Amino acid sequence: MDKIFECEVRQWKPDPSTGKGAPLWVVMPVDKAIQLADVTIRCMKCHGPIRLHRAGPLGVPRAHAEHLRRHPGCPLGDCFDGTFRTSPTPIGS
Ligand SMILES: [Zn+2]
Repeated sequence: MDKIFECEVRQWKPDPSTGKGAPLWVVMPVDKAIQLADVTIRCMKCHGPIRLHRAGPLGVPRAHAEHLRRHPGCPLGDCFDGTFRTSPTPIGS
């Protein structure tokens, strides 16, 4: 089981030249990200989709995230094979 304690959360930064929001990925602890509603999250290393898990009773286990699909190219995964690769299904900007 993956034990990821930080993730990237997508926020929008206004771009003055286009007037549109530009995506800005912000790293934050999982227990903070879990309190935000309707946000897009991704693994901060491989950019793959992850699922957030709340802390258990008494705080054990800690709030953490796991990849939706195991990915051997991610150093944060539990099956990392030693060679970093971006997720085959990355969440883009
Ligand atoms: Zn990952």
